Amino acid sequence: MNDIRQRIDEITSTLPGGVTLVAVSKFHPAASIMEAYDAGQRVFGESRATELAEKAASLPDDITWHFIGHLQTNKVRLVVPHASLIQSVDSERLLRCIDAESRRIGKTTDILLQLHVAMEETKYGFLPDELTELLRGGILEECPNVRVRGIMGMASNVDDLSRIESDFKAIRATFDHIKAMSLPATGDFDTVSMGMSHDYMLAISCGSNMVRIGTTIFGEREY
Ligand SMILES: *Cc1c(COP(=O)(O)O)cnc(C)c1O
Repeated sequence: MNDIRQRIDEITSTLPGGVTLVAVSKFHPAASIMEAYDAGQRVFGESRATELAEKAASLPDDITWHFIGHLQTNKVRLVVPHASLIQSVDSERLLRCIDAESRRIGKTTDILLQLHVAMEETKYGFLPDELTELLRGGILEECPNVRVRGIMGMASNVDDLSRIESDFKAIRATFDHIKAMSLPATGDFDTVSMGMSHDYMLAISCGSNMVRIGTTIFGEREY
């Protein structure tokens, strides 16, 4: 029963300073989240809008919720009130929708832009060039109720470590490139979210400063 606490302790003791641990609690019950909470963990990641809204309503107020899944625009209003960071902004339409909903409820929402570098077609996100074009076009100035904090990405789902490493390096390079563009609305651009249970140490060595870890903390998910 104390496995979750032990795994949180193990992971946090191996993470270098400056790397944020997001405990990915999707599909896991409130009781498991509370075990991690009692071990001191405060940042949790969820991938479904309704699940996030329900958990946020019933769990302690000092939990910081990140949304990490594909978000449909018709679910934005469920997520915006609860999420302190929406990591998975994968289209211009979604960005504009989060901005509008944030304005409506009087909030500024922190977001990450999701980058697609992996081989799989199934993964969501912007291609690096699409993203730089979008930002150069001035979308952030048009969306003052979102604050873009950085980039989120996933490596290809393969065993080939060199491919995973080159995906992570491509994500980091895109972050550095955007940062170097010094656009007016990217003053708070400081987050590179990459790395999951099986690859987070490699991600950190490639320049990640936010890791999203589910299975290693909570065990296998039951869908
Ligand atoms: C589920 C999920 C994770 C966590 O994956 P694990 O392999 O369980 O650590 C991380 N990031 C995203 C975007 C996810 O959907």
